[in-house]
Amino acid sequence: MKKALPWIMVISIFGFVIAWGLMGMKLLNHDYLITAEAYVGAAFLVIFCISMLLYKALQDKCPHCGKMRTSNTPFCPHCGKKYPKQ
Ligand SMILES: [Zn+2]
Repeated sequence: MKKALPWIMVISIFGFVIAWGLMGMKLLNHDYLITAEAYVGAAFLVIFCISMLLYKALQDKCPHCGKMRTSNTPFCPHCGKKYPKQ
């Protein structure tokens, strides 16, 4: 799951750019039927935000005890074990 998240982020941001790019092209051609592209783009943007938040949440957890990291010290304040290098 953790390894898949950056890929989901990359794919969703590409999908977002492509969908809203298509929307912009249509607008430039005076074609205002852009509802589908707008929704697809927004969905990709939501997926990107969720995966980014998930990735951040996973990064900020101690791998030994699972508690949130509260400091930037190399050791976990909850269980005292060293964080692995990121
Ligand atoms: Zn810990």
